[in-house]
Amino acid sequence: MLTFRQLFDTTSSTYTYLLGDSGQALLIDPVFEHAQRDAALLRELGLSLVATLDTHVHADHITGAWLHKQRCGSIIAVAAAAGAQQADRLLQHGDTVVFGQRHVQVRATPGHTNGCLSFVLDDQSMAFTGDALLIRGCGRTDFQQGSPGALFRSVREQLLSLPPGCLLYPAHDYRGLTVTSVAEELAFNPRLGGQANVVDFSGYMNNLGLPHPRLMDLAVPANLQSGRPANNLAAQAVPDWAELTLTFGGMWEISPEALAGVASSVQVLDVREPHEFNDAFSDASGHIGHAVQIPLAQLAERWVELDATRPVVAVCRSGARSAQAVVLLRKAGIARAANLAGGMLRWHALGLPVVGAATSAP
Ligand code: FE
Repeated sequence: MLTFRQLFDTTSSTYTYLLGDSGQALLIDPVFEHAQRDAALLRELGLSLVATLDTHVHADHITGAWLHKQRCGSIIAVAAAAGAQQADRLLQHGDTVVFGQRHVQVRATPGHTNGCLSFVLDDQSMAFTGDALLIRGCGRTDFQQGSPGALFRSVREQLLSLPPGCLLYPAHDYRGLTVTSVAEELAFNPRLGGQANVVDFSGYMNNLGLPHPRLMDLAVPANLQSGRPANNLAAQAVPDWAELTLTFGGMWEISPEALAGVASSVQVLDVREPHEFNDAFSDASGHIGHAVQIPLAQLAERWVELDATRPVVAVCRSGARSAQAVVLLRKAGIARAANLAGGMLRWHALGLPVVGAATSAP
């Protein structure tokens, strides 16, 4: 069964698309800063990333292609015409990119840039149009070898010729719109639909008078390296004090096994109530040795009792209250804070050592 997700970057209004089938996935237009978010979603959905695809060399954000390759081993696929380095696969019009039992077909749609591609799902039910076609608009044509004439042909011949019900997903939207269809754009796109011809379109595009994107001077050179950073930004992005994973919800977590391995070098903060902390007979009885006990409701005042120079792992019964504790600690400036995944319940289930628990029921 096809898995489809539309993800968003609020800084650049970029959409990233996840397509998955039979345990494999593609990401179209991943954003560098969201590589951890996207990797967490893939992990939670049980999908392994086989390739990242960029619709073009973006001018407004840096691609996550290189970072995903380092983390997941995915291949970097870009248009041969884009001229980007670090790519593993140079895509041409008519190529297919397979994920599980499904594939997308590559269509060259130059005009916004000369290396723009669109990706059409195998059954033509969806197409990912990059900046060639936006919802009731299109990408600009005034830099990166843009050409109104080429864009007009691309959109009319490669995109608006798809079945009327085919859903079109753009690389950006600035007004909160998420999806359109071939029929809708044929009827209502003010630049490219209706009776507009190439002369009308070129006149419109040559008089937009837009300023250049804010990040253009940074983003274009970085994207010509497929998002490979000049410094060791990639290494800095992941905490190194323990083996942590980032959940799709944005929470750094540590597994009970990983915590057991580093318990002597971190502070364990138990945010349960005193009666839970000292209860020898509950389903989450006892506590982790040397744990500091501060109930969640008191943490906003009492976090100063913690040693801010050492990492903190927050613990509760199930991992829910302690997740809120991590949010609070990070707000207080303790950046090296993580949540014990599954809380004391999982800690117990794994048979890890506790103090203060009864050895047998009363
Ligand atoms: Fe663009």
